[in-house]
Amino acid sequence: MSVWDDLVGQDRVVEQLQSASRAARATVTAGRSAAPQPGGNASLMTHAWLFTGPPGAGQVTAARAFAAALQCTSPDLELGGTPGCGFCDGCHTVLSGSHADVKQVRTDGLSIGVGDMRDLVLRASSYPTGGRWSVILIDAAHRLTEAAANALLKGVEEPSPRTVWLLCAPSVQDVLPTIRSRCRLLVLRTPSVDAVADMLVRRDGVGPETARLAALAGQGDIDRTRRLAVDEQARARRADVLRIPLEVADLGGCLTAAQRLVDTAKADAEALAETQDAKETDDLKAAYGAAEGSRAPRGMAGAVKELEKRQKSRATRTRRETLGVALGDLLGFYRDVLAIQFGTTGALANEDQRPALQKVAGAGLPENTLRRIEAVLACREALDRNVDPLLAVEAMTVALRAG
Ligand SMILES: [Zn+2]
Repeated sequence: MSVWDDLVGQDRVVEQLQSASRAARATVTAGRSAAPQPGGNASLMTHAWLFTGPPGAGQVTAARAFAAALQCTSPDLELGGTPGCGFCDGCHTVLSGSHADVKQVRTDGLSIGVGDMRDLVLRASSYPTGGRWSVILIDAAHRLTEAAANALLKGVEEPSPRTVWLLCAPSVQDVLPTIRSRCRLLVLRTPSVDAVADMLVRRDGVGPETARLAALAGQGDIDRTRRLAVDEQARARRADVLRIPLEVADLGGCLTAAQRLVDTAKADAEALAETQDAKETDDLKAAYGAAEGSRAPRGMAGAVKELEKRQKSRATRTRRETLGVALGDLLGFYRDVLAIQFGTTGALANEDQRPALQKVAGAGLPENTLRRIEAVLACREALDRNVDPLLAVEAMTVALRAG
Protein backbone atom coordinates (compact mmCIF):
# COMPACT_ATOMS: atom_id res chain seq x y z
CA MET A 1 0.00 0.00 0.00
CA SER A 2 1.64 3.27 -1.09
CA VAL A 3 1.43 6.59 0.78
CA TRP A 4 -0.98 7.84 -1.90
CA ASP A 5 -3.66 5.31 -0.98
CA ASP A 6 -4.53 7.40 2.07
CA LEU A 7 -5.90 10.11 -0.21
CA VAL A 8 -9.52 9.38 -0.99
CA GLY A 9 -11.11 10.70 -4.18
CA GLN A 10 -8.25 13.14 -4.97
CA ASP A 11 -6.86 11.67 -8.17
CA ARG A 12 -5.82 15.02 -9.68
CA VAL A 13 -3.94 16.15 -6.60
CA VAL A 14 -2.25 12.75 -6.33
CA GLU A 15 -1.09 13.00 -9.94
CA GLN A 16 0.38 16.46 -9.36
CA LEU A 17 2.17 15.41 -6.21
CA GLN A 18 3.51 12.25 -7.80
CA SER A 19 5.04 14.16 -10.70
CA ALA A 20 6.42 16.77 -8.33
CA SER A 21 8.06 14.07 -6.24
CA ARG A 22 9.57 12.51 -9.36
CA ALA A 23 10.91 15.95 -10.31
CA ALA A 24 12.18 16.36 -6.74
CA ARG A 25 14.01 13.07 -6.96
CA ALA A 26 15.64 14.08 -10.25
CA THR A 27 16.75 17.30 -8.55
CA VAL A 28 18.36 15.37 -5.68
CA THR A 29 20.02 12.88 -8.01
CA ALA A 30 21.47 15.70 -10.07
CA GLY A 31 22.58 17.54 -6.94
CA ARG A 32 20.58 20.65 -7.83
CA SER A 33 18.25 22.78 -5.74
CA ALA A 34 14.57 23.58 -6.25
CA ALA A 35 14.10 26.98 -7.81
CA PRO A 36 11.11 28.86 -6.42
CA GLN A 37 8.42 28.71 -9.09
CA PRO A 38 5.03 28.92 -7.40
CA GLY A 39 3.17 29.64 -10.62
CA GLY A 40 5.17 27.23 -12.74
CA ASN A 41 4.34 23.90 -14.28
CA ALA A 42 2.31 21.89 -11.77
CA SER A 43 4.44 18.81 -12.24
CA LEU A 44 7.66 20.56 -11.27
CA MET A 45 9.11 20.78 -7.80
CA THR A 46 8.87 24.00 -5.87
CA HIS A 47 9.74 25.04 -2.33
CA ALA A 48 6.37 26.08 -0.89
CA TRP A 49 2.96 24.44 -1.19
CA LEU A 50 -0.46 25.38 0.07
CA PHE A 51 -2.97 22.55 0.54
CA THR A 52 -6.58 23.72 0.78
CA GLY A 53 -10.00 22.10 0.62
CA PRO A 54 -13.27 21.56 2.49
CA PRO A 55 -13.09 20.35 6.12
CA GLY A 56 -11.98 16.75 6.39
CA ALA A 57 -11.02 16.34 2.73
CA GLY A 58 -7.52 15.43 3.88
CA GLN A 59 -5.15 18.39 3.42
CA VAL A 60 -2.77 17.19 6.14
CA THR A 61 -2.91 13.61 4.84
CA ALA A 62 -1.94 14.86 1.38
CA ALA A 63 0.89 17.00 2.72
CA ARG A 64 2.22 14.11 4.81
CA ALA A 65 2.09 11.72 1.84
CA PHE A 66 4.06 14.24 -0.21
CA ALA A 67 6.61 14.62 2.59
CA ALA A 68 7.00 10.82 2.68
CA ALA A 69 7.47 10.69 -1.10
CA LEU A 70 10.18 13.34 -0.84
CA GLN A 71 12.07 11.14 1.64
CA CYS A 72 11.28 7.81 -0.04
CA THR A 73 14.32 5.53 -0.40
CA SER A 74 12.70 2.59 -2.15
CA PRO A 75 15.13 0.64 -4.38
CA ASP A 76 12.35 0.61 -6.99
CA LEU A 77 13.07 4.27 -7.66
CA GLU A 78 16.23 3.22 -9.51
CA LEU A 79 13.92 1.33 -11.86
CA GLY A 80 11.71 4.35 -12.45
CA GLY A 81 9.17 3.64 -9.68
CA THR A 82 7.02 6.43 -8.21
CA PRO A 83 8.27 7.85 -4.88
CA GLY A 84 6.03 7.15 -1.89
CA CYS A 85 6.21 3.34 -1.73
CA GLY A 86 4.92 3.29 1.87
CA PHE A 87 7.32 0.52 2.90
CA CYS A 88 10.85 1.92 2.95
CA ASP A 89 12.48 3.47 5.97
CA GLY A 90 12.01 6.98 4.54
CA CYS A 91 8.27 6.66 3.97
CA HIS A 92 7.79 4.82 7.23
CA THR A 93 9.58 7.30 9.49
CA VAL A 94 7.79 10.27 7.90
CA LEU A 95 4.36 8.69 8.39
CA SER A 96 5.17 7.80 12.00
CA GLY A 97 6.46 11.32 12.66
CA SER A 98 10.06 10.39 13.46
CA HIS A 99 11.97 11.43 10.32
CA ALA A 100 14.87 13.74 11.17
CA ASP A 101 14.27 16.03 8.19
CA VAL A 102 10.49 16.34 8.47
CA LYS A 103 9.03 18.58 11.10
CA GLN A 104 5.28 18.60 11.49
CA VAL A 105 3.89 21.55 13.39
CA ARG A 106 0.69 20.45 15.06
CA THR A 107 -1.27 23.42 16.23
CA ASP A 108 -3.47 21.19 18.36
CA GLY A 109 -5.89 24.03 18.73
CA LEU A 110 -3.14 26.29 20.04
CA SER A 111 -1.93 29.00 17.75
CA ILE A 112 1.74 28.93 16.82
CA GLY A 113 3.71 31.71 18.47
CA VAL A 114 6.22 33.95 16.75
CA GLY A 115 9.10 32.44 18.74
CA ASP A 116 8.28 28.91 17.54
CA MET A 117 8.04 30.16 13.99
CA ARG A 118 11.42 31.93 14.09
CA ASP A 119 12.98 28.69 15.36
CA LEU A 120 11.36 26.81 12.50
CA VAL A 121 12.57 29.25 9.86
CA LEU A 122 16.07 28.97 11.29
CA ARG A 123 15.88 25.20 11.38
CA ALA A 124 14.55 25.12 7.84
CA SER A 125 17.63 26.88 6.56
CA SER A 126 19.93 24.02 7.58
CA TYR A 127 20.80 21.36 5.03
CA PRO A 128 18.80 18.13 5.42
CA THR A 129 20.75 15.48 7.34
CA GLY A 130 19.57 12.76 4.95
CA GLY A 131 20.69 14.76 1.92
CA ARG A 132 17.21 15.03 0.39
CA TRP A 133 14.76 17.66 1.59
CA SER A 134 14.18 19.54 4.79
CA VAL A 135 10.38 19.54 5.10
CA ILE A 136 8.24 21.65 7.40
CA LEU A 137 4.55 20.82 7.49
CA ILE A 138 2.24 23.32 9.17
CA ASP A 139 -1.12 21.66 9.68
CA ALA A 140 -3.21 24.79 10.30
CA ALA A 141 -1.51 27.74 8.65
CA HIS A 142 -4.67 29.80 9.16
CA ARG A 143 -4.13 29.73 12.91
CA LEU A 144 -0.82 31.54 12.81
CA THR A 145 -0.68 34.81 14.71
CA GLU A 146 0.14 37.82 12.57
CA ALA A 147 3.68 37.97 13.93
CA ALA A 148 4.19 34.25 13.31
CA ALA A 149 2.85 34.58 9.76
CA ASN A 150 5.36 37.35 9.10
CA ALA A 151 8.18 35.16 10.41
CA LEU A 152 6.96 32.37 8.11
CA LEU A 153 6.91 34.81 5.20
CA LYS A 154 10.66 35.32 5.70
CA GLY A 155 11.11 31.56 5.35
CA VAL A 156 9.15 31.21 2.12
CA GLU A 157 10.53 34.47 0.71
CA GLU A 158 14.18 33.49 1.03
CA PRO A 159 14.08 29.73 0.66
CA SER A 160 17.12 27.58 1.27
CA PRO A 161 17.94 25.29 -1.66
CA ARG A 162 16.55 22.11 -0.14
CA THR A 163 13.77 23.36 2.09
CA VAL A 164 10.11 22.58 1.40
CA TRP A 165 7.25 24.30 3.20
CA LEU A 166 3.92 22.47 3.22
CA LEU A 167 1.09 24.63 4.53
CA CYS A 168 -2.47 23.45 5.13
CA ALA A 169 -5.50 25.73 5.46
CA PRO A 170 -9.23 25.57 4.67
CA SER A 171 -8.95 28.09 1.82
CA VAL A 172 -6.48 30.49 0.21
CA GLN A 173 -8.28 33.42 1.80
CA ASP A 174 -7.18 32.12 5.21
CA VAL A 175 -3.52 32.75 4.44
CA LEU A 176 -1.71 36.09 4.06
CA PRO A 177 -1.65 37.14 0.37
CA THR A 178 2.11 37.66 0.58
CA ILE A 179 2.54 34.02 1.68
CA ARG A 180 0.08 32.42 -0.70
CA SER A 181 1.54 34.22 -3.72
CA ARG A 182 4.77 32.33 -3.05
CA CYS A 183 3.11 28.92 -2.72
CA ARG A 184 1.91 26.45 -5.32
CA LEU A 185 -1.77 25.95 -4.60
CA LEU A 186 -3.36 22.50 -4.38
CA VAL A 187 -7.12 22.29 -3.99
CA LEU A 188 -8.61 19.09 -2.60
CA ARG A 189 -12.24 18.44 -3.38
CA THR A 190 -15.04 16.84 -1.43
CA PRO A 191 -14.64 13.10 -2.02
CA SER A 192 -17.64 11.20 -3.36
CA VAL A 193 -19.79 9.05 -1.06
CA ASP A 194 -18.74 5.94 -2.99
CA ALA A 195 -15.02 6.72 -2.68
CA VAL A 196 -15.29 7.27 1.08
CA ALA A 197 -17.46 4.18 1.64
CA ASP A 198 -15.02 2.11 -0.40
CA MET A 199 -12.11 3.33 1.73
CA LEU A 200 -13.93 2.36 4.94
CA VAL A 201 -14.54 -1.15 3.65
CA ARG A 202 -10.98 -1.56 2.35
CA ARG A 203 -9.01 0.10 5.14
CA ASP A 204 -11.12 -0.26 8.25
CA GLY A 205 -12.95 -3.49 7.55
CA VAL A 206 -16.35 -1.83 8.00
CA GLY A 207 -19.39 -3.61 6.52
CA PRO A 208 -20.63 -2.14 3.21
CA GLU A 209 -23.99 -0.89 4.54
CA THR A 210 -22.50 0.75 7.65
CA ALA A 211 -19.82 2.27 5.41
CA ARG A 212 -22.41 3.73 3.04
CA LEU A 213 -24.53 5.23 5.82
CA ALA A 214 -21.45 6.72 7.53
CA ALA A 215 -20.17 8.14 4.23
CA LEU A 216 -23.56 9.79 3.59
CA ALA A 217 -23.74 11.21 7.12
CA GLY A 218 -20.10 12.36 7.12
CA GLN A 219 -20.83 14.67 4.15
CA GLY A 220 -17.31 14.46 2.71
CA ASP A 221 -15.39 14.81 5.97
CA ILE A 222 -13.21 11.70 6.07
CA ASP A 223 -12.20 11.80 9.74
CA ARG A 224 -15.75 12.42 10.82
CA THR A 225 -17.02 9.65 8.56
CA ARG A 226 -14.50 7.19 9.96
CA ARG A 227 -15.48 8.13 13.52
CA LEU A 228 -19.15 7.60 12.67
CA ALA A 229 -18.33 4.20 11.20
CA VAL A 230 -16.13 2.87 14.00
CA ASP A 231 -16.77 4.95 17.13
CA GLU A 232 -19.84 4.11 19.16
CA GLN A 233 -19.71 7.40 21.08
CA ALA A 234 -19.62 9.51 17.91
CA ARG A 235 -22.70 7.68 16.64
CA ALA A 236 -24.50 8.17 19.96
CA ARG A 237 -23.64 11.90 19.89
CA ARG A 238 -25.07 12.28 16.43
CA ALA A 239 -28.25 10.38 17.32
CA ASP A 240 -28.59 12.67 20.33
CA VAL A 241 -28.31 15.79 18.16
CA LEU A 242 -30.75 14.47 15.57
CA ARG A 243 -33.36 13.99 18.29
CA ILE A 244 -33.57 17.74 18.67
CA PRO A 245 -35.91 18.46 15.72
CA LEU A 246 -38.51 16.22 17.38
CA GLU A 247 -37.89 17.60 20.87
CA VAL A 248 -38.50 21.26 20.16
CA ALA A 249 -42.29 20.99 20.25
CA ASP A 250 -42.53 23.24 23.31
CA LEU A 251 -40.38 25.80 25.07
CA GLY A 252 -39.30 23.36 27.80
CA GLY A 253 -38.06 20.94 25.17
CA CYS A 254 -36.13 23.74 23.44
CA LEU A 255 -34.34 24.80 26.60
CA THR A 256 -33.50 21.21 27.62
CA ALA A 257 -32.07 20.46 24.18
CA ALA A 258 -29.95 23.63 24.23
CA GLN A 259 -28.59 22.87 27.68
CA ARG A 260 -27.70 19.33 26.63
CA LEU A 261 -25.78 20.49 23.54
CA VAL A 262 -23.77 23.01 25.52
CA ASP A 263 -23.06 20.55 28.36
CA THR A 264 -21.79 17.93 25.90
CA ALA A 265 -19.44 20.46 24.30
CA LYS A 266 -18.15 21.47 27.73
CA ALA A 267 -17.57 17.84 28.70
CA ASP A 268 -15.53 17.30 25.52
CA ALA A 269 -13.31 20.27 26.28
CA GLU A 270 -12.81 19.08 29.87
CA ALA A 271 -11.97 15.54 28.80
CA LEU A 272 -9.33 16.87 26.41
CA ALA A 273 -7.91 19.21 29.05
CA GLU A 274 -7.66 16.35 31.53
CA THR A 275 -5.49 14.28 29.21
CA GLN A 276 -3.32 17.12 27.87
CA ASP A 277 -3.00 20.16 30.14
CA ALA A 278 -1.22 18.60 33.13
CA LYS A 279 1.26 16.77 30.92
CA GLU A 280 2.07 19.89 28.92
CA THR A 281 2.66 21.87 32.08
CA ASP A 282 4.91 19.11 33.48
CA ASP A 283 6.86 18.92 30.21
CA LEU A 284 7.35 22.66 30.22
CA LYS A 285 8.62 22.63 33.81
CA ALA A 286 10.92 19.74 32.98
CA ALA A 287 12.27 21.72 30.03
CA TYR A 288 13.16 24.49 32.47
CA GLY A 289 14.84 21.91 34.70
CA ALA A 290 12.58 22.68 37.62
CA ALA A 291 12.90 20.19 40.47
CA GLU A 292 10.03 19.37 42.79
CA GLY A 293 9.94 21.78 45.74
CA SER A 294 12.89 23.92 44.66
CA ARG A 295 12.69 27.54 43.52
CA ALA A 296 11.34 28.04 40.02
CA PRO A 297 14.05 28.85 37.44
CA ARG A 298 14.05 32.32 35.91
CA GLY A 299 11.47 32.79 33.18
CA MET A 300 9.47 29.70 34.06
CA ALA A 301 6.54 31.43 35.73
CA GLY A 302 5.95 33.55 32.64
CA ALA A 303 6.16 30.54 30.34
CA VAL A 304 3.70 28.57 32.48
CA LYS A 305 1.31 31.50 32.45
CA GLU A 306 1.58 31.75 28.68
CA LEU A 307 0.92 28.01 28.34
CA GLU A 308 -2.15 28.24 30.58
CA LYS A 309 -3.49 31.07 28.48
CA ARG A 310 -3.11 28.96 25.35
CA GLN A 311 -4.69 25.92 27.02
CA LYS A 312 -7.68 28.03 27.91
CA SER A 313 -8.08 29.16 24.32
CA ARG A 314 -7.82 25.55 23.19
CA ALA A 315 -10.64 24.57 25.58
CA THR A 316 -12.79 27.31 24.07
CA ARG A 317 -11.96 26.07 20.60
CA THR A 318 -12.76 22.44 21.46
CA ARG A 319 -16.11 23.52 22.85
CA ARG A 320 -16.80 25.47 19.70
CA GLU A 321 -15.77 22.56 17.49
CA THR A 322 -18.07 20.09 19.25
CA LEU A 323 -20.92 22.56 18.87
CA GLY A 324 -19.89 23.09 15.25
CA VAL A 325 -20.21 19.35 14.54
CA ALA A 326 -23.65 19.31 16.18
CA LEU A 327 -24.79 22.30 14.11
CA GLY A 328 -23.48 20.59 10.97
CA ASP A 329 -25.56 17.51 11.80
CA LEU A 330 -28.65 19.66 12.35
CA LEU A 331 -28.10 21.50 9.06
CA GLY A 332 -27.82 18.17 7.26
CA PHE A 333 -31.06 17.06 8.89
CA TYR A 334 -33.05 20.10 7.77
CA ARG A 335 -31.53 19.99 4.28
CA ASP A 336 -32.83 16.44 4.02
CA VAL A 337 -36.25 17.59 5.28
CA LEU A 338 -36.26 20.22 2.55
CA ALA A 339 -35.27 17.63 -0.04
CA ILE A 340 -38.20 15.43 1.00
CA GLN A 341 -40.58 18.39 0.92
CA PHE A 342 -39.42 19.13 -2.62
CA GLY A 343 -39.91 15.50 -3.60
CA THR A 344 -36.25 14.56 -4.16
CA THR A 345 -35.75 10.86 -4.70
CA GLY A 346 -31.95 10.59 -4.28
CA ALA A 347 -30.09 9.33 -1.21
CA LEU A 348 -30.27 11.59 1.83
CA ALA A 349 -27.35 12.47 4.13
CA ASN A 350 -29.33 11.08 7.04
CA GLU A 351 -30.68 8.02 5.29
CA ASP A 352 -30.80 6.18 8.65
CA GLN A 353 -33.18 8.83 10.04
CA ARG A 354 -35.84 8.61 7.34
CA PRO A 355 -38.88 8.21 9.65
CA ALA A 356 -37.93 11.29 11.70
CA LEU A 357 -37.19 13.28 8.54
CA GLN A 358 -40.53 12.35 7.04
CA LYS A 359 -42.34 13.26 10.23
CA VAL A 360 -40.79 16.74 10.33
CA ALA A 361 -41.24 17.19 6.57
CA GLY A 362 -44.93 16.27 6.79
CA ALA A 363 -45.58 18.63 9.71
CA GLY A 364 -44.46 21.82 7.95
CA LEU A 365 -43.84 23.64 4.70
CA PRO A 366 -40.56 24.29 2.87
CA GLU A 367 -40.58 27.88 4.16
CA ASN A 368 -40.63 26.60 7.76
CA THR A 369 -37.64 24.42 6.95
CA LEU A 370 -35.76 27.31 5.33
CA ARG A 371 -36.40 29.42 8.42
CA ARG A 372 -34.95 26.64 10.58
CA ILE A 373 -31.89 26.31 8.39
CA GLU A 374 -31.38 30.04 8.80
CA ALA A 375 -31.68 29.66 12.58
CA VAL A 376 -28.89 27.06 12.61
CA LEU A 377 -26.67 29.25 10.41
CA ALA A 378 -27.38 32.26 12.64
CA CYS A 379 -26.30 30.22 15.66
CA ARG A 380 -23.04 29.29 13.94
CA GLU A 381 -22.36 32.95 13.19
CA ALA A 382 -23.18 33.97 16.76
CA LEU A 383 -20.68 31.40 18.09
CA ASP A 384 -18.03 32.75 15.70
CA ARG A 385 -18.68 36.19 17.14
CA ASN A 386 -18.10 34.81 20.64
CA VAL A 387 -21.69 35.12 21.82
CA ASP A 388 -22.27 33.12 25.02
CA PRO A 389 -22.81 29.53 23.77
CA LEU A 390 -25.92 28.80 25.85
CA LEU A 391 -27.60 32.03 24.73
CA ALA A 392 -26.80 31.36 21.08
CA VAL A 393 -27.94 27.74 21.19
CA GLU A 394 -31.15 28.58 23.10
CA ALA A 395 -32.01 31.23 20.54
CA MET A 396 -31.58 28.56 17.87
CA THR A 397 -33.62 25.77 19.50
CA VAL A 398 -36.45 28.21 20.25
CA ALA A 399 -36.43 29.26 16.58
CA LEU A 400 -36.56 25.59 15.54
CA ARG A 401 -39.96 25.22 17.23
CA ALA A 402 -42.93 24.30 15.16
CA GLY A 403 -45.05 27.09 13.69
ZN1 LIG B 1 9.25 4.75 0.27
